[in-house]
Amino acid sequence: AVASPRFAFHNGEFVRADTVGLPVSTQALHYGTGVFEGIRAYAREGTAGLAVFRLREHLERLERSAGALRIRLPLTVDDMSDVVLDLLRRNGGDGDTYIRPLAYKLALEPGTPFGVRLSGVSAQFTLTTVRMGSYVRSEGLACKVSTFRRVPSVSIPSTAKITGTYANNALAVEEAYADGCDDALMLGLDGNLTEASTSNVFVVGRDGRIATPPVTADILPGITRATVIELLAREFGLPVAERPVGRAELDDAQEVFTTGTGVEVSAVTSIDHRPVSTGRAGDLTRRLRDVYTEVVRGRRPAYATWLTPVPPR
Ligand code: PMP
Repeated sequence: AVASPRFAFHNGEFVRADTVGLPVSTQALHYGTGVFEGIRAYAREGTAGLAVFRLREHLERLERSAGALRIRLPLTVDDMSDVVLDLLRRNGGDGDTYIRPLAYKLALEPGTPFGVRLSGVSAQFTLTTVRMGSYVRSEGLACKVSTFRRVPSVSIPSTAKITGTYANNALAVEEAYADGCDDALMLGLDGNLTEASTSNVFVVGRDGRIATPPVTADILPGITRATVIELLAREFGLPVAERPVGRAELDDAQEVFTTGTGVEVSAVTSIDHRPVSTGRAGDLTRRLRDVYTEVVRGRRPAYATWLTPVPPR
């Protein structure tokens, strides 16, 4: 369920969300020259209120993404962190919330010649939130291996979360929908697995070994991916090999799951309409998802440093 919160942070101030508008000349709208993040705040048990999961890591990635497009963020990571918490507090409510920082090229600075470029273009920062519960289907995702290859890093750096890149993801997802599937798995130019449309992918082989494509495979290095690698090591004693994963390994897997701020930990139960193993969410995937849920909801004190509580009003 999605409800509109009252406030946004736009161009340096808190404003009513429904008043935020942008000129049609906004450069990012024309050339995809924006960067963004997707962050989640979770309701903790009882009346403990909301806490943001791995806020600093997301804001640091935003800063790095901005650097790739020569966008100078108007706020430091610490200041953005304060703004996120303040916005959540102002918007109130104790339900799960999705947080969307967006920094984008706005307008040519005086003296800058018209055209496709990065330098000499001003940038702006907007932060919005959306109320959002878990949208993971418990029965798992039907995935399609996309005919669209993921944009390679030699074309657009994949480690940066750049708005323009997502035309690629949208094409892949739409193709998956047209084929009756829930999500797309994208291969790289070399034919190896990269990631899903908005998440990273892990494969559990017949031998029980876990693998996920390395950062050099043109993936976005997900914060959930890093979280899950750490949880698998600490809670399950299971190492994850970060290595190239071939297309054929998907067909032969015991379990496949995706990780991302949005999808959290989701089982992939079919690929190109062929069931993964039994066609049900695997045992490891389910246990991992349970641990992940406990961590993000503050029920695992060992991981409390990953949560930033929203101060009460
Ligand atoms: N890959 C892509 C293309 C994504 O959009 C996302 C979501 N940000 C991810 C992976 C997962 O990243 P994270 O775990 O940091 O949300």
